[in-house]
Amino acid sequence: MTETADDGPEMLECSARGCRAEAAWGLRWNNPRLHTPDRRKVWLACDEHREHLEGFLGARGLYKDTVPVAELLGEADASGTDRP
Ligand SMILES: [Zn+2]
Repeated sequence: MTETADDGPEMLECSARGCRAEAAWGLRWNNPRLHTPDRRKVWLACDEHREHLEGFLGARGLYKDTVPVAELLGEADASGTDRP
């Protein structure tokens, strides 16, 4: 969905539909039908949408955990956040 851009996003944007707020949280999830168990997909969320998105993923049994965006930036496999 948002993994294609290679043109350097200046800001990490909330993944909620229609929201352009700066993301504060990374919600990590995994869909066992699509992904291997150790794979983590990441949704970004602002303070306002964090709970909503956690609930969305949780209801589908996909939700794993939430970490601050700053922590995501230190991880190599966070999609859409490939900074040095
Ligand atoms: Zn938002």
